[in-house]
Amino acid sequence: MNIHEYQAKGLLAKFGVGVLSGQVAYTPDEAVEAAEKLGGQVWVVKAQIHAGGRGKGGGVKVSKSLDEVRENAKRMIGMNLVTHQTGPKGKLVKRIYVESGCDIKRELYLGMLVDRATSRITIMASSEGGVEIEEVAAKHPEKIIKVAVDPASGILPFHARKIAFGLGLEGNQVSSCVKFVMAMYRAFVELDCSIVEINPLVVTGAGDVIALDAKMNFDDNALYRHKDVEEMRDEDEEDPAELEAGKHNLNYIKLDGNIGCMVNGAGLAMATMDIIKLYGGQPANFLDVGGGATKERVTTAFKIILSDANVEGILVNIFGGIMRCDVIAEGVVAAAKEVSLHVPLVVRLEGTNVELGKKILAQSGLPILSADNLADAAEKIVKAVKEA
Ligand code: ADP
Ligand code: MG
Repeated sequence: MNIHEYQAKGLLAKFGVGVLSGQVAYTPDEAVEAAEKLGGQVWVVKAQIHAGGRGKGGGVKVSKSLDEVRENAKRMIGMNLVTHQTGPKGKLVKRIYVESGCDIKRELYLGMLVDRATSRITIMASSEGGVEIEEVAAKHPEKIIKVAVDPASGILPFHARKIAFGLGLEGNQVSSCVKFVMAMYRAFVELDCSIVEINPLVVTGAGDVIALDAKMNFDDNALYRHKDVEEMRDEDEEDPAELEAGKHNLNYIKLDGNIGCMVNGAGLAMATMDIIKLYGGQPANFLDVGGGATKERVTTAFKIILSDANVEGILVNIFGGIMRCDVIAEGVVAAAKEVSLHVPLVVRLEGTNVELGKKILAQSGLPILSADNLADAAEKIVKAVKEA
């Protein structure tokens, strides 16, 4: 789960991470009120969407008077913001963040993530902040400092000092950075994050190290431990099909292809996607209906798959272990009738009561293509989609 910049900054500040003062606003009036309350002469109005690259797209505006704050807020709220991370469709801006202006001396990069290769939380930093870090990683990997933290020891001051010196900080900037990195690590662990990214991390004229932007991503499996974080979920920012799937405990992830997949078990779902690709097709989604797929769940899954306009064919690949194939077949038939299926459907069943399952499919009168094994199923659906 992702949250907005202002929410991330609020959480990080509680752990002692340096941020500027700011306030969220939903209307131009609220934005001006926020600026008045913050005081000072310069404010920055920032669009709150779950995507980076806002600056380049017109979603970050420095404002030197209250009138400018109002103008920028007016322009930004309700605008469709397109950045390299939103895709060409862009995202509707519904809230903005009014933050004090920052006296920026240097823009750096600082990120933490769970590195599967080392099984450790890895801290990454670079003096090339403000720009796309992926580009730095690709072109100048030597400019990225990496420090992996052993979970047994947790973060120690030397880890943070390595980052600070690696970034070329000096004097009081070093202690400010060390404090920042240690606090951010604590927030990462205690809030069960999967990614925290500060881009840019800035050194101010006064030598303070603070977060000018903040992106936090949480491990969904640990959200039950963080009700306050869960409450920050902004459903407007999430894919509607994924949201609907989540409500039915279906593991659904939308992908870019055109073959919808309905599978039980995450491993089988991965294998199914692989084999579709092997036969020259592209999966439209990952969908694990789970072990206890009832007729209702199968129907819901079908509806979710078909709500994706890119889907031109569906492959159902179910292994009846705990599930019986006849129950699955009944679910598939009922769902196909209910949603008035308009794309080719290939079903591969295996396991308990498979013969009965196949009989139900064959007798349904629906144009369901039955497959005997995974390869056969993939070949059939790829061919059917190409010919349709
Ligand atoms: P995004 O990554 O979505 O473009 P950022 O929050 O990183 O958004 O802001 C983009 C740029 O805008 C920053 O690199 C920084 O130069 C400037 N900026 C952002 N917030 C402030 C601020 N409070 N004061 C001054 N400049 C800012
Ligand atoms: Mg940024």
